[in-house]
Amino acid sequence: MAYYECTITVADTYKDTLIERLSKAGCLGVIENNDTLVAYFPQTCDIKTITDDLSLLNALLEKSGKAQGLAFVCTVIPEQDWNESWKKGFQPVDAGEHFTIIPPWEEPRAGRINVTIDPAMAFGTGHHETTRSCIVLMEKYAGKCGKESFLDLGTGTGILAIAASKLGYRRVVGIDTDPLAVDAGLLNIEINRTRDVEIREGSLAETEDTYDVIAANLISGVLVRLAAALAAHLNPGGIAILAGILTGQEKEVIEAMEHTGLTLQETYYDGKWVSLVVQQGMV
Ligand code: SAH
Repeated sequence: MAYYECTITVADTYKDTLIERLSKAGCLGVIENNDTLVAYFPQTCDIKTITDDLSLLNALLEKSGKAQGLAFVCTVIPEQDWNESWKKGFQPVDAGEHFTIIPPWEEPRAGRINVTIDPAMAFGTGHHETTRSCIVLMEKYAGKCGKESFLDLGTGTGILAIAASKLGYRRVVGIDTDPLAVDAGLLNIEINRTRDVEIREGSLAETEDTYDVIAANLISGVLVRLAAALAAHLNPGGIAILAGILTGQEKEVIEAMEHTGLTLQETYYDGKWVSLVVQQGMV
């Protein structure tokens, strides 16, 4: 499959809003350069709607007179180029105290817990702050609130589910609404020989079980929408690790979680990203 690559020049102040808008439109990933964002979309997406939206945003920005408009160029890149380009950029990366995330062609690092990731067409190579923050918090809370079951909600490449299995959780499930992520997750549990990890397509609403730990590296709006469902899927005393929240948006997520009866245990900052740990009561 080919992909769309959209290079967008936009003022710094609008970058975060634009990234959120792009991810809602089905963007697979964004690379931030100095004054540009490079966004990747699957060929199956409706690129006309996306470029129309960008043109509209440009018109609005220009009309506001507050900022220069945005400029964009969208091109199709063949699958082979895509694969080659991520391979060049994928270096091993340490996450948390013990983990190293490595691409499939690298030798495992001695003395580290290695997670090998072939990202295929999914998010989660360990290079993003939000993924690494989840791993930091997973290590910190491992075993403190049950070590039986772990749900990775929005599993992407399966990276957090595989890490959970390596931390010793007995029942690990990764779910994702994107079938391409499910393919990547299945590939990676094979590569890591963590075949007891269950990866499936779906959402929280279709999941019946409850868990000791849920990791959800999504975006603020989705976390707020899922607050009640997250609480309903936690065992008594269980925790949810919430990531993908931009600084400034944590308040609305905390409020939504507390509204469901969950209590805030920790706020963890990495750059402009915030992660939260919330806990279910014991009864
Ligand atoms: N867990 C990985 C990937 C996070 S990217 C990591 O931490 O690196 C977020 C993933 O969540 C994407 O693969 C996206 O398809 C999926 N997703 C988004 N909304 C979702 C929802 N409501 N339910 C399940 N998966 C969702």
